[in-house]
Amino acid sequence: MNKIAVFPGSFSPFTLGHKSIVDRALPLFDKIIIAIGINSEKKEYFSVEERKQWIQKVYKSNSKLEVQFYEGLTVDFCEKVGANYILRGLRDSHDFKYEKNIAHTNTDLNDEVETIFFITPTEISHLSSSIIRDIIKNGGDVSQFLPKEIDL
Ligand code: ADP
Repeated sequence: MNKIAVFPGSFSPFTLGHKSIVDRALPLFDKIIIAIGINSEKKEYFSVEERKQWIQKVYKSNSKLEVQFYEGLTVDFCEKVGANYILRGLRDSHDFKYEKNIAHTNTDLNDEVETIFFITPTEISHLSSSIIRDIIKNGGDVSQFLPKEIDL
């Protein structure tokens, strides 16, 4: 049986923190689908298309990695693509509290989908897409926080 994992998120933009999770998860699964959530009610700073293209640029030579868009419940998307695992990252206790409730709720909704957490290396545990967007809005250089293939 193919082991398929979904890594859901906004990825606005995809940072070294996200990359660290994907890189560590890749040897464990047959396929990883990075699933960019579409929230039609939220005005996003980067379009979903550009977010997808950046991730594809980082993993262009990896056939185990796919990028897709999704709307609605993450567990429903998992069922649609045949995934039994959700990947999420934990930076600190704040992430843990938030993620624990979501993971339990997802299990209530579909107990065939397991959430797997990756603890962030300390050197990048302070990184967040929202802080990176703030730096960009204020004209700063964010290259040290992003995979080298993403040039913002
Ligand atoms: P969401 O809006 O769903 O939180 P994000 O794109 O912000 O989407 O994050 C997706 C996942 O990546 C989350 O599990 C988040 O905890 C994790 N993540 C974000 N930044 C980092 C980081 N610096 N290190 C590890 N994990 C991270």
